[in-house]
Amino acid sequence: MASHLANIFGTEQDRVNCSFYYKIGACRHGDRCSRKHIRPPYSQTILLPNVYHNPSHDPVCKLTDKELQEGFDAVYEDLYIELAKSGHLLELHVCDNIGDHLIGNVYARYEWETEAQAAVDHLNDRWYAGRPLYAELSPVTDFREACCRQNENGECNRGGFCNFMHLRLASKDLVKSLQTGQRLDRRANPTKTVQEEAGWQPKVRDRRSASPPRRRNENPGEDRWTRK
Ligand SMILES: [Zn+2]
Ligand SMILES: [Zn+2]
Repeated sequence: MASHLANIFGTEQDRVNCSFYYKIGACRHGDRCSRKHIRPPYSQTILLPNVYHNPSHDPVCKLTDKELQEGFDAVYEDLYIELAKSGHLLELHVCDNIGDHLIGNVYARYEWETEAQAAVDHLNDRWYAGRPLYAELSPVTDFREACCRQNENGECNRGGFCNFMHLRLASKDLVKSLQTGQRLDRRANPTKTVQEEAGWQPKVRDRRSASPPRRRNENPGEDRWTRK
């Protein structure tokens, strides 16, 4: 019995736990869902709901595809650099869905659960683009399972209202350069620990004259992280 329950946990057959929450980290019924949404006590994955606002969802948007991609790349770069401060970032995904529970959701997966927890603690104190961030540990482990296969083949007829992830992709060159940057940064700072990073605050950094600010990670988008 116990092994049967373990086998069906979070699947369609599981009558207790919500398969959407378990697989995708968000379900359209939210708190009113008839099945359980159990927040994991530990996870490598974090969710930041409703962070990316795609300007093309605005009916009066006049931006070209190129401008939209450049705007999205800037957001992706901001997020990647900020999230990599908390640990070894393995994956970063941004949803382009428009349903309330998935719109603008950002998911990040770290190498270690302690890094994900540090990121949650860090980000819950932060603002982005004039709005407060909210971060939580997420049960999502396999993004291939969470993403809509039909959408990847250009065949999803539910469009943005689909309940599986439709990802917005950053430019390949940008992703590659961010990954290389992270690798070099981690090689140059091998003693960097989660504790050190979790305490990142401008004030603390100023007082610690022994460790100068890491200029390389600063970028022109930095001011978007402050409350305006
Ligand atoms: Zn649910
Ligand atoms: Zn879909």
